[in-house]
Amino acid sequence: MSQQEKIYVMKFGGSSLAGPKEIVQSASIVSEYSKGRSGLIVVCSAMGDTTDHLLKAIDFAKKGNIDNARQLIAEIKNHHQITLEKTVEDVEKRERCTEWISERFDELDKILLGISLLRDLSPRSSDYFLSFGEKLSTNIFDATLQSLGLKTKYLTGGEAGILTDESFGSAEPVAKPTNEKLRTTLLPLLKSDVIPVVTGYIAETLDSHEIITLGRGGSDYTATLIAAAIDANEVLLWSDVDGIMSADPKIIKNAKILEQISYLEAMEMSAFGAKAMQPRALEPAARKGIPVRIKNTFNPKVPGTLILSSDSVVNGVKTGVKAVGSLTNVGVINISGTSIVGSPGTAVKIFEILKELGVGILMMSQSVSENNVSLVIKRNELPKVVRAFRKDLLLEDTDGYDTEGAKESHSSRASANKNTKFSKLDYEDDVSIVAVLGRGMIGTPGIAGRVFSTVAKQGINIRMIAQGSSEINISFVIKDKDRNKAVAALHEEFVV
Ligand code: ASP
Ligand code: MG
Repeated sequence: MSQQEKIYVMKFGGSSLAGPKEIVQSASIVSEYSKGRSGLIVVCSAMGDTTDHLLKAIDFAKKGNIDNARQLIAEIKNHHQITLEKTVEDVEKRERCTEWISERFDELDKILLGISLLRDLSPRSSDYFLSFGEKLSTNIFDATLQSLGLKTKYLTGGEAGILTDESFGSAEPVAKPTNEKLRTTLLPLLKSDVIPVVTGYIAETLDSHEIITLGRGGSDYTATLIAAAIDANEVLLWSDVDGIMSADPKIIKNAKILEQISYLEAMEMSAFGAKAMQPRALEPAARKGIPVRIKNTFNPKVPGTLILSSDSVVNGVKTGVKAVGSLTNVGVINISGTSIVGSPGTAVKIFEILKELGVGILMMSQSVSENNVSLVIKRNELPKVVRAFRKDLLLEDTDGYDTEGAKESHSSRASANKNTKFSKLDYEDDVSIVAVLGRGMIGTPGIAGRVFSTVAKQGINIRMIAQGSSEINISFVIKDKDRNKAVAALHEEFVV
């Protein structure tokens, strides 16, 4: 590549590599971008939902159900082989890849058998097992690109240079060695006009050189880590959406694509929108100010959403609000009682319980009087949290999730037990979070007032409110049945 040539890091998500048709389309994009230029790096996710299927196979094996596990793996193998046959035209390359894939599946089978015999699996072995999804997809994509005549090189994330700590399941790269190795591996390849084709999601531990993963959805992170290390000019995240939208187009027909947003806005919005991203995925790009573009593989002419540093965003919105998001499948827990007033230990205890259960808090609020704490969590985690809170924070208890069939009763009250930390717990499992988002809200008074009066005009009751101090997000909780109405009214009021 020549000195002034721009460097692009392109990541193709699972939906862009789901099968033969998708892979051919993604390959045509790489081929188009590389015409007459070099300076391109490709990062791949696993094909479609392969990672979910691998996890399911592990689950079967752990229960000793090797037949079902093998059945699932056989289906995955079949799908990869069919895809390979339909995408790699060059016979020699196809045969080599077929053999390579076959060997990987032999390896998978051995591990599976081991798991089913031991009925146990460490996070280390789980990462190793899951790494096959990206190895397979990337190898097939690499062979497809080669068969189109492109000069490429297949590399695992570790081979490329992503070197991490030992947190299996959600590894964190060690900055200095990672940046150094990424540069020494990738830059010479670019210089000799080779396109590195790198497995997303997978990395290598710095000390013991073991395969490790960056956590679910980690391929975006792979792309931004690479981009930051080699000072790339842009990251393109190819998926199956036209960009980040001002609202869910399934709810709002005239939702529009946001042309430009800041890194922080993107992080907030991705929690609500169609393009879910690991929150940390944008960090490396943000640190270096590298633009990240969300693109649709199946509609590549659409410019997509450009994510930039906040000073570079050209803001075409008339109000401070850029988007209205919503999250359903959540539940709210309220705990209250004068006995928690002035006892700082209560909040600590709550966090400890949630940490132990591995439950994340989506929203939280506490009244100044301190006699009420409300938490929003994922709905499917509600039963275990309610159970644990009752056990550890509310001594006397009776109904709800504790007693089979008593789920209708959503409230329980402790009698006058001296040791209770709080006296009342109730929960709702038919609620949604709605959020208005946008950095233009910062320091603009009156937005919250308008948000709530807009919702009130619809006759909707708000159960809980939270605003982060970043001021780019006002979130509130309402009943599920009111969600679409609230989103529509807010989108109409602020965005259209
Ligand atoms: N295949 C991995 C997952 O599904 C990583 C990714 O897609 O980014 O979580
Ligand atoms: Mg995936």
